[in-house]
Amino acid sequence: MSERTPILVTGAAGFIGSHVAEALLRRGESVVGVDCFDAFYDSASKRANAEEVAATARACGGRWELRELDICDAPALQGLFQEHRFAGVIHLAARAGVRPSIAQPVLYARVNVEGTTALLQAAAASGCQCFIAASSSSVYGNNRKVPFAEDDAVELPISPYAATKRACELIGATMHHLGRMPVGMLRFFTVFGPRQRPDLAISLFLSKVSRGEPIQMFGDGSTSRDYTFVDDIVRGVLAAFDRVPEHGFRVWNLGGDRPTSLRDMVATIERVTGRSAVVTPAPLQPGDVERTWADLSRSRAELGYAPVTRFEEGVARQWAWMQHRHASRSRATP
Ligand code: NAD
Repeated sequence: MSERTPILVTGAAGFIGSHVAEALLRRGESVVGVDCFDAFYDSASKRANAEEVAATARACGGRWELRELDICDAPALQGLFQEHRFAGVIHLAARAGVRPSIAQPVLYARVNVEGTTALLQAAAASGCQCFIAASSSSVYGNNRKVPFAEDDAVELPISPYAATKRACELIGATMHHLGRMPVGMLRFFTVFGPRQRPDLAISLFLSKVSRGEPIQMFGDGSTSRDYTFVDDIVRGVLAAFDRVPEHGFRVWNLGGDRPTSLRDMVATIERVTGRSAVVTPAPLQPGDVERTWADLSRSRAELGYAPVTRFEEGVARQWAWMQHRHASRSRATP
């Protein structure tokens, strides 16, 4: 098999990045992954994700290489771009999470804004012809009009995390303007499924409800999220990667198109785990938006994006994966 020019995936040991790396390998691409295994959550689970990507590479005979590197380390990035001529970049590394960004805005700005800028600069300087990056539905803040469309005003983010994601979109547009490198920014709407980050509500609630531990419900349960299953997101990421050269600079929503209230999400978790939730009411948290819902008109028309996984099916698949990983870990550490 002739070797293809590699694609760089940042955040490749994380939740979404590991799935994107596997999907690229399965379609015959060579992949160089970058991750710094930051301390946001247990690095052992990221190591396990990376091992699964390596196993997928072996199974499909693909070339996979993982570099432990911080995207804020500009000289190290430049070295990587000198070593490889990348066919494109899929940038998923970030400090994620809305609530923790309120306590650490400088850290979020550094990793997300400075790191993304360093990566855009290194990619543009190398003549890279395709750059895709993760933005977030959080850029819409508490906009009243739903569903949220890409051309809606996004001037009022309500958390530092959301502000850093909006800043990344703007610097992406600027770098495209200056160097003509095609840049696509993908506004992901709450992603869930196997390998979901442990800080996110579905993961947290599945763990706690299954153990009979109380969960905190912020607000009256009427807030809602347009949850998106990770396989659907991955198809959207790959379509954006393939199509962005036709567009120059473009922002696309990638959502699930079926908003679910917090109350219904908890009821789904109860059905999937077969346990009743012990709910502790708590006030709405600063930085949390009231609802999200993606208008998918643009991504359907331009990317052929069409989410197919129903919420309950996706939660059941995530729960099956959590039990499997827990069992593998228990076997590894008797
Ligand atoms: P994740 O934390 O699982 O993955 C991010 C990865 O980036 C981690 O493995 C982390 O170690 C790595 N990383 C962090 N800082 C780095 C640095 N300085 N250098 C190199 N690697 C670094 O998060 P995720 O949920 O997979 O999110 C992926 C992307 O999607 C992020 O940009 C996130 O902001 C965005 N996003 C996620 C969601 C969601 O619901 N999961 C929603 C909207 C946007």
